[in-house]
Formats: sequence, C-alpha cells, structure tokens
Amino acid sequence: MVEAAPAIWPKAAARARRCVVLTGAGISAESGLATFRGPGGWWRNHDPQTLATPQAFRKNPGLVWEWYQWRREQAKRAEPSSGHRAIVVLEDIFPEFLLITQNVDGLHQRAGSRRMVEIHGNIFREKCFDCGQSGPGCSETKSPPRCSCGGLMRPDVVWFGEALPAEALETAWRESARAEIFLAVGTSGLVQPAASLPLAAKQGGAFLVEINPEPTPLSNWADLSIRAKAGEAMAVLVDALRAQGR
Ligand code: NAD
Ligand code: ZN
Repeated sequence: MVEAAPAIWPKAAARARRCVVLTGAGISAESGLATFRGPGGWWRNHDPQTLATPQAFRKNPGLVWEWYQWRREQAKRAEPSSGHRAIVVLEDIFPEFLLITQNVDGLHQRAGSRRMVEIHGNIFREKCFDCGQSGPGCSETKSPPRCSCGGLMRPDVVWFGEALPAEALETAWRESARAEIFLAVGTSGLVQPAASLPLAAKQGGAFLVEINPEPTPLSNWADLSIRAKAGEAMAVLVDALRAQGR
C-alpha cells in the first residue's frame, strides 16, 4: 500500500512541463487482462511468446487468429482501470505530454488518452500478411479473412522478431529524449526497443519513475521506484500534483 508520494516526486515535478509515460501489460492487469509472463498468460496451454510470431501464423494461421479473437473478446469486456484514467489526468496537467504504450488492447483510448503512440500495434486492426494492406478491422470471423491480393489477414500488432512502426517509434524516441518526467508503468523492461526508452529519457536528464510491484532491470536506473500496482501508485502521484495546485 502506498499512502503518499515520496517528497522527491513533487519536488521533481514542480516546474516540469514535459511528461512522457510508457506503459506495458501491467497497467491492463488491473482491468483483468493477463500479461504474457505473469500468471494467467497461457491460453489453452500455448505459450503466448510462441503464438505471437510470424512463424506461428505461417504454420497455423487459424490458431493464431483464434487466439487474437479470444483476446479481442477479453479486451472488449474489460474496462479501463484507475491507472489508465490517471494517465489522462497527467495529460491534462502537463502542457507537453506523450503516452507510449506497448499494449494492444485499446484501453488507453477508451479511458480518454489522446496524445499517444501504440508502438506494438492494436488487436482491433488487421493487415494483410502478404502485402500489408489494412483491412476493415475487428473481423468477427472464426478464421482469418482474405485480402484482395489473396493473402491472409493478420492482426495489426508487432510480433516477436518484427520491426516496430517507424513513425510511432521515432516519436517515442524523440519525446523520451526531451522528457523532464518519464514514468514507466507496468512494463518488465525486457522487451526491446521499448525497454531502452526510459534510458534515453534518463540520458536526456529526465526524472525517471518506475511503477511495478516487482523489481525490473529498470529499477537500477530509476530515480523513484514505486513497488505497487499501477492504479494506486498513479493515484498518489496525481494527488501530490493536485496538492501543488496543478
Ligand atoms: P511486460 O513486459 O510489459 O510486463 C508486465 C509487467 O507488469 C511485469 O513487470 C509485472 O511485474 C508488471 N505488473 C503486473 N501487474 C501489475 C500491476 N497491477 N501494476 C503495475 N505493474 C504490474 O508485458 P508482458 O506481459 O511481458 O508482454 C510483453 C508484450 O506483449 C507487451 O509489451 C505487449 O506488446 C504484449 N502484451 C499486451 C497486452 C495488452 O495489450 N494488455 C497483454 C499482454 C501482452
Ligand atoms: Zn494483401
């Protein structure tokens, strides 16, 4: 339980204008969505890390598609958490703000986040496995539909071993490097290149805050590590800013 933000936080945030928040699966854990590595991350005995690959789709497109349909259903049923909502408050407080999310579940948009980049895509969009053309999105079909080129549609997410969307990544690097405050929330710090964004921020002089119930490789670099769930930790950070009249 965190009762109040350590004094170092309001001091660091007092005059800051530029804030960047990076989120991982941990922030959606409180909406009931499983992380890949945590408990409940398995689906019908399949390891997500072997399903979220181009090789898996090539081998068994139906299985991978079905897994994403299941994840879409879970995401649709889930509600944004207090952590998702606190990020919207930060966006209102800081004049310059960017949310960088590794999540693909659309919960940040549903919470009301506006200035954001999705560096791992979104499960509610689809694109052709062969030509890359976008589909209508969120097909309800049981198996992957066909593109006009004859290729199979796949979810528009970044699989292990694939490149991240260039424009979103460029924005993420640029804004991280100029951030005054950088919050890493619910991310294991193991998936690259996202894991390097907090370090770019730190090198650029940002005050680095980590929120995660578990220690991560990032903990060594953080100016402030809050070992708590995203929702309660974000709430105390926001309260401290409100107490400053922001
Ligand atoms: P991750 O690497 O971002 O790790 C999750 C982290 O969240 C862990 O360090 C864990 O300790 C922490 N955590 C757990 N509960 C938390 C809470 N209540 N508050 C704060 N932190 C908490 O995510 P991953 O699961 O290893 O997956 C890697 C990638 O797979 C993601 O970056 C994403 O692209 C994709 N993924 C997305 C979703 C989603 O959109 N909801 C879910 C699973 C995986
Ligand atoms: Zn195509």
